[in-house]
Amino acid sequence: MPALPTSAVIGVIGAGAMGAGIAQVAAQAGHSVILHDNQPGAAKAGIDNIRRQLEKRVAKGKMIQGDVDNIIARLQPADAIDALADSHLVIEAIVENLEIKRQVFAQLEALCSPDTLLASNTSSLSITSIAANLERPERMAGLHFFNPAPIMKLVEVVSGLATTTEVADTLYDTAVAWGKVAVHASSTPGFIVNRVARPFYAEGLRLLQEGASDAATIDALLRQAGGFRMGPFELMDLIGHDVNYAVTRSVFDAYYGDTRFEPSLVQQALVEAGRLGRKSGKGFFDYAESAAKPQPTFAEPANTELPALVVQGANSTLAPLLERAQKAGLNVVYRESLQQDGSPRLYLGDLVLALSDGRCAAERAVNEGLDALVLFDLCLDYRNASAIALAASHTASPEARQLATAFFQHMGMDVAWLTDTPGLVVLRTVAMLANEAADAVLQGVCSAKDGDLAMQAGVNYPRGPLAWADSLGLPFVHRTLTHLQQSYGEERYRSSFLLRRNALSEESFHE
Ligand code: NAD
Repeated sequence: MPALPTSAVIGVIGAGAMGAGIAQVAAQAGHSVILHDNQPGAAKAGIDNIRRQLEKRVAKGKMIQGDVDNIIARLQPADAIDALADSHLVIEAIVENLEIKRQVFAQLEALCSPDTLLASNTSSLSITSIAANLERPERMAGLHFFNPAPIMKLVEVVSGLATTTEVADTLYDTAVAWGKVAVHASSTPGFIVNRVARPFYAEGLRLLQEGASDAATIDALLRQAGGFRMGPFELMDLIGHDVNYAVTRSVFDAYYGDTRFEPSLVQQALVEAGRLGRKSGKGFFDYAESAAKPQPTFAEPANTELPALVVQGANSTLAPLLERAQKAGLNVVYRESLQQDGSPRLYLGDLVLALSDGRCAAERAVNEGLDALVLFDLCLDYRNASAIALAASHTASPEARQLATAFFQHMGMDVAWLTDTPGLVVLRTVAMLANEAADAVLQGVCSAKDGDLAMQAGVNYPRGPLAWADSLGLPFVHRTLTHLQQSYGEERYRSSFLLRRNALSEESFHE
């Protein structure tokens, strides 16, 4: 079945933040929409609010009044559910409660035609479970929009155990016709985005808890080196710690306590303290008007003269960094011979610089018999990154650290020194995101393409985690995770079997 034609009537239940947004999206796409809420007057208030939002766009010259009038004319409020009887598709966006959702879908089944498609916008409940008592569960699916629905591009089309391929495909094509980026997912806890994104918060929280650095610095590194739009702490403050902690707990419980999803005591403490983030005025950061903006801790300028940079075994990940060094006027000399394990090394005199591989600097310095080792972090693009994290082995002298600082500063990068932490910040985060996405693919939750698309369109990641892992080389990502697992002795960092198998068989996630 192709997308629903614009002549199809769309019913939306729940005129709150999500329902009103979804109704707006469908009306903008040309459908007649009936918006129902069981609070008298709430549906009308929802439509009045849509008008106000659209008129703001008219005031900014981004829309014309005639289009607003047409969209609003297509939206009809209803205080009684009976008004949805003739809908071709009903999307439910009411309170997140399984029993209440089940009751509403039972009512709809009694009311609507047997061909009416039924969809839930639930973020965390099982579609299979919501549909369990329906007479025709095969026509029910999840249609998971993101907040705010008119702006956020992604829609996860979630298939429960009974959902037919035709129903999922029709909803997918309809979401695309509405201007969205659609992805298919099977109904598993967190679907794609709320599952694969967990390590973005979890690794940040872990780094903070272990004193690797402070929140503002970790945020700055994920933005300036990782290319993420926001760091985990400012993002959690924006989402609200009550909401973010509840999602983490629900995914953790749903996966029977898998340590990959373990909630953080750091976040629990914020919830207990009522420090919920922006909405309560304080979370990791203080949002009082008088409060100073949080600043990352970067190294002071190091005025050390730089010797030639000797490169042993450069690879494609590091090539842009070396180009940048050359452009910055450094003398870059390439040496033929490789390290035994093939990992590249950069030398500034006696100082050895190396990309992190998930081991801490102390371990590598001891294993490789190095007096001065400084590990540096992964960057999304070494050509443009404006900051980088470094960690030194216990054997490195203050002069060696100064030299490393001077090297990166010379190329225009801010330098953040972390305590000697395995995987540093960006590498550890990206490896864990890719690992989670790989497991989702392995378990048939989504394809690699949809997994990456979901993370880019749903949470604005600068690159799909699996495509990122492909570009780093899967053996490197697998090795990094294995080293993290050894460093902590924890299952949490175990490498996904699919990552391992692809690494061994030299296959990538994408062609
Ligand atoms: P909300 O509280 O803003 O709105 C819910 C609306 O549903 C309210 O207006 C309420 O009066 C109405 N309602 C409750 N029970 C009803 C019933 N039995 N019949 C008719 N109307 C009823 O909630 P929201 O944030 O819009 O979330 C709605 C759904 O969307 C939830 O399932 C939530 O998990 C999901 N969701 C939320 C977000 C988000 O960021 N807020 C994002 C994606 C999905």
